[in-house]
Amino acid sequence: MGMPKLLLATKNAAKVREYLLPLQGIPYDIVTLSDVGIDVVVRETGETMEENASIKAEAYALASDLTALADDSGLEVDALGGEPGALSARYAGEGVSDRERLDFLLSKLSHVPWEQRAACFRCVIAIATLKGAVELCQGECHGIIAFEPRGEGGFGYDPIFFLPELGKTMAELTIEEKNEISHRGKAARRARQILERYIRSSD
Ligand code: IMP
Repeated sequence: MGMPKLLLATKNAAKVREYLLPLQGIPYDIVTLSDVGIDVVVRETGETMEENASIKAEAYALASDLTALADDSGLEVDALGGEPGALSARYAGEGVSDRERLDFLLSKLSHVPWEQRAACFRCVIAIATLKGAVELCQGECHGIIAFEPRGEGGFGYDPIFFLPELGKTMAELTIEEKNEISHRGKAARRARQILERYIRSSD
């Protein structure tokens, strides 16, 4: 019997690349939405990242008949009371570019001094199995919102997410370096443990 398939249920190509690294070598045949030809619109109707990650994972497991991994992630800025949070992707409205979203956030923080610019990236992963079970895990990464963007790597808010202990923004890290410390890397390593447990318990 071949390895079971795991669907990486995200339309974000940057996220796919970030997941392949920490999931390397797991006993699953990892497939993407385009590999399985699935193009459904899943409405993120939940209010929390946990709800939205679960909604996505369940919908894609159902559509594909495969174990599905989906995430919901976002940036929580202390000075904005935790916003944009679960609304991170739509914060500056629909259909705007990463750059416009980032500028919108910077403009909201234009009068906020360095000491009050703490923020946290959070990633919640949901794994939905064919038996109908959904398991959650998460990862966090703390940093400071810079005054201007720096770096070309990553995606989304990475160019303004400054990591004081590295003296760099997230966008100045290689994908391997980002994976070591990022919310998604941490969550993915926990997801890996869950997935490996499924394999052991089905032996
Ligand atoms: P999601 O696709 O619903 O999880 O929304 C995530 C949004 O949060 C993205 O569109 C980004 O704006 C932001 N975000 C999440 N993770 C990251 C990251 O690793 N770097 C930069 N921005 C991120």
